[in-house]
Amino acid sequence: MKQGSILERLAVLADAAKYDASCASSGTAKRNSKDTGGKGIGSTEGMGICHAYAPDGRCISLLKILLTNHCIFDCHYCINRASSNVARARFTPQEVVDLTLSFYRRNYIEGLFLSSGIVKSSNHTMEQLVEVARILREEHDFRGYIHLKTIPDADAELVHQAGLYADRVSINVELPTDAGLARLAPDKNTGRIEAAMAEVKDDIAQSRDETKRFRNAPRFAPAGQSTQMIVGADAASDADIVGKASRLYDGFRLRRVYYSAFSPIPDASAVLPLKRPPLMREHRLYQSDWLMRFYDYSAAEVMQATGDDGMLPLDIDPKLAWALKFRERFPVDVNRAGREAMLRIPGLGVRAVDQIIAARRQRTLRLEDVGKLTVSIAKVRPFIVALDWRPTALTDRADLKSLLAPKQEQLELFAA
Ligand code: SF4
Repeated sequence: MKQGSILERLAVLADAAKYDASCASSGTAKRNSKDTGGKGIGSTEGMGICHAYAPDGRCISLLKILLTNHCIFDCHYCINRASSNVARARFTPQEVVDLTLSFYRRNYIEGLFLSSGIVKSSNHTMEQLVEVARILREEHDFRGYIHLKTIPDADAELVHQAGLYADRVSINVELPTDAGLARLAPDKNTGRIEAAMAEVKDDIAQSRDETKRFRNAPRFAPAGQSTQMIVGADAASDADIVGKASRLYDGFRLRRVYYSAFSPIPDASAVLPLKRPPLMREHRLYQSDWLMRFYDYSAAEVMQATGDDGMLPLDIDPKLAWALKFRERFPVDVNRAGREAMLRIPGLGVRAVDQIIAARRQRTLRLEDVGKLTVSIAKVRPFIVALDWRPTALTDRADLKSLLAPKQEQLELFAA
């Protein structure tokens, strides 16, 4: 088959990679200076570069592409599925290496995020992905960041090699429930996906152990493993998704679970919903994920914030939803309470809680002191006691939710 120019293929394969959410920036509004007749500058719609956090906390830019968007599988939610009528392209491993190095030398990127449709077989595809990383590391001594998507059905030895070259490896679980996966990705299997994750987990643990004992022991995926779940393509509720994410974090020591709101794709399969779920749903799931990872909430507690339908409210964040349901746990005395209780206070982020704990060693805190550490003291006031503040009946007011819900639709973040 005739292949287009590198640039034409780059356009196809960067665009095809945009559906993978394993990237720190997503969900922003579409803006493009071309749509306004060239007025202004810049665009949020470009594909090809994504951002990730390096192990040392830096936000880095990655060339994000597929090796190929040909695929022998037929996952209904995927634009690259075998039955999809889209333009196809592929790179050779050497072409991906050349692109990565030339972008790196121009300072456009600090690394590579590489995924692929499955061509010929899972092993063949995995060999090609590994070959890209091998050439970069061994032939060019490439020190930049590499994130490789691995193919769950590939031989464990190939996945192991991927982890020796890559900083991070990821395997997508795709859908929150086994039934959803069986219906929408009939070629995939939860057992095989989780078995591959378990092997990666063991390799990471073994490598950490060896590098502690031998300074020059090979490092395996030092930035850990991650996964992605598609939200809204099947009937799974937020409670299902939170439960699945929690099992993945506990069972496979994942660094991150990414949530990707299903978006209708061109040439969509008839079994998919016609509408995408609200973007706010994806945002609420990320917030619930933060509660589990940084605020010591168990999955069961996050699920308590859901309604009878198992869905997180869209109008308020899950931490506030939980606090409104369990008002007997409030108000919390900011001058006396333990860190765990303080982390439950809506509107207080982890950093604010730690600053309060440090500050109260020097003096007894007033409401104003807490106000300096949060973007919204109005959100915090009903849930705390300070030297000069006691909310009295405010905590139990029947209309408290309407007093605290954001007035306009916006993505509100935790105050951390
Ligand atoms: S395996 Fe499924 S999700 Fe991956 S590229 Fe092929 S059709 Fe898409």
